[in-house]
Amino acid sequence: MTFKELNLIEPIMHAVAEKGYVTPTPIQEQAIPIILEGRDLIGASQTGTGKTAAFALPLLTKLQPIGKPQILVLEPTRELADQVAEAFAEYGEFTGLKVALLYGGVGYGKQTEDLKNGADIVVATPGRLVDHFYRGTMRFGEVKALVLDEVDRMLDMGFIHDVTRILDKIPNRKNLGMFSATISREVMDISWVYQRDPEEITVCLLYTSDAADEG
Ligand code: AMP
Repeated sequence: MTFKELNLIEPIMHAVAEKGYVTPTPIQEQAIPIILEGRDLIGASQTGTGKTAAFALPLLTKLQPIGKPQILVLEPTRELADQVAEAFAEYGEFTGLKVALLYGGVGYGKQTEDLKNGADIVVATPGRLVDHFYRGTMRFGEVKALVLDEVDRMLDMGFIHDVTRILDKIPNRKNLGMFSATISREVMDISWVYQRDPEEITVCLLYTSDAADEG
């Protein structure tokens, strides 16, 4: 399969070509059509499978820049949040869409400013996102799609209440994507409560990120 067959918009295809990606990885082949259709998805997959582009490319394809959070991506750690925000910025470079990155352990100043300046995509750790909500700096009114990335790690780190608090505030979203290295009982519990007829996909690690960087 080629990227052309995946129905991504031209500005995204341009960014994909600049990254040097030639063929979609298996998780991208499977996940992109499901997310474009607006369906819920649960993916068993690790880092290094091309998982980030698997959700970022179709979500970016469906957005218009309106300067309000429309896509929310939750990550367990600051490092992962940072990497995924960077990936959205790169894949969305030619779309005019803006990304904000929110995580704890630092001041609110820059994050609040980024939200005020109009972010279409927010990548965040759960605790800090909830803090921004209660401060009134983050609104969920326009959120259409949510991604819970590395769900098993988020649960291990004790974020379950923050995650469900956020999910409860976004009842009208269209897409809920969940990605987890292991699909545990706890991960399935969230899926049962919050997903509607999810498509399940499983992808094994095919290459390391070093190999991927070499193309
Ligand atoms: P991820 O699993 O999202 O952390 O991605 C792992 C690595 O694979 C990253 O360095 C990506 O830039 C790279 N990558 C993602 N999709 C592709 C693709 N279709 N072709 C080549 N490399 C890719």
